Amino acid sequence: MTTSSQDADTVESDTVESGAVESGAEHSSGKRILLAKPRGYCAGVDRAVDTVERALETYGPPVYVRKEIVHNHHVVQTLRDRGVIFVEDTSEVPEGSLVVFSAHGVSPAVHEEASKRGLRTIDATCPLVTKVHKEVNRFARKDYDILLIGHEGHEEVEGTSGEAPDRVQLVDKPDDVDDVEVRDPSKVVWLSQTTLSVDETMERVHQLQERYPDMQAPPSDDICYATSNRQVAVKAMAAECDLVLVVGSQNSSNSKRLVEVALQAGASTSYLVDYASEIDESWLDGVDTVGVTSGASVPDALVFQVLDYLQEQGWGEVEEVTTANEKVSFALPRELRKDLPENSSGSSVR
Ligand code: SF4
Repeated sequence: MTTSSQDADTVESDTVESGAVESGAEHSSGKRILLAKPRGYCAGVDRAVDTVERALETYGPPVYVRKEIVHNHHVVQTLRDRGVIFVEDTSEVPEGSLVVFSAHGVSPAVHEEASKRGLRTIDATCPLVTKVHKEVNRFARKDYDILLIGHEGHEEVEGTSGEAPDRVQLVDKPDDVDDVEVRDPSKVVWLSQTTLSVDETMERVHQLQERYPDMQAPPSDDICYATSNRQVAVKAMAAECDLVLVVGSQNSSNSKRLVEVALQAGASTSYLVDYASEIDESWLDGVDTVGVTSGASVPDALVFQVLDYLQEQGWGEVEEVTTANEKVSFALPRELRKDLPENSSGSSVR
């Protein structure tokens, strides 16, 4: 067993031997479920959701949230039912009201606008996204050109690019590499969105290195521990699976990557579903082994509903495939902590 860590004092995960199957359950019918671990909530999502829930309890509704607090329909709808108002832009928030910024982060321009309009803000940006923002600032101050590998239009990419819009160029598709222009090839660095496919990102890096051999790498991994751990777990079981079901929303980057990784690692088919009710019975035709995992913004209750559904369909046994044990905690945002009773300003621990 080894321990891996990322450049944040609260991130830690014990890696177990790849593909270890913990339960060792016998499967007489031939129909089995492999359940990936780690899966589901990461510490950044847990902290962001906890932040909104505690803001509701502490200040009462309405609490405004800019964009979806995390990319999961169930989580967003549950908070909406409790009095949270989701907006696309801070201009929609009445002056003087409380607004929470989502886990994906915001650019300095958004902070400035909120301040001009007298909004009370709580920033629930994941500390691992903030880390990438700081890297952008550091390299921009040194006058580097920054090649940000990420998905065009994703909120995280908009926030990160906004730290130094004159210095950051987005590299999304393979063709984007040809369009990059830098001022000095000896002062170039690549950084990335936190929720990408590890393998695809390295393909893009190799393409960029062919053009810029002196390009620098990020000081530490930008793809976060949760994204990479969930990809390792799905890879460990995919080749044994006739079908991999990934629980997650269509706008969740890390969930969509899990479908791609499952297929690349040998799963015969793979689908992304928000709820068990979205599973099409025809997907199960001729299937013996079903893999199940979930994105970093998905509560485990939704995974258990999928397991219940599969068990109703005849898949009785569940074997957990464990590739890492995560022990990660992030303190709640300072702006919220100061208003919480002592000893209840807790952190999220997975
Ligand atoms: S997926 Fe990673 S970067 Fe995103 S909220 Fe979770 S821990 Fe933070």
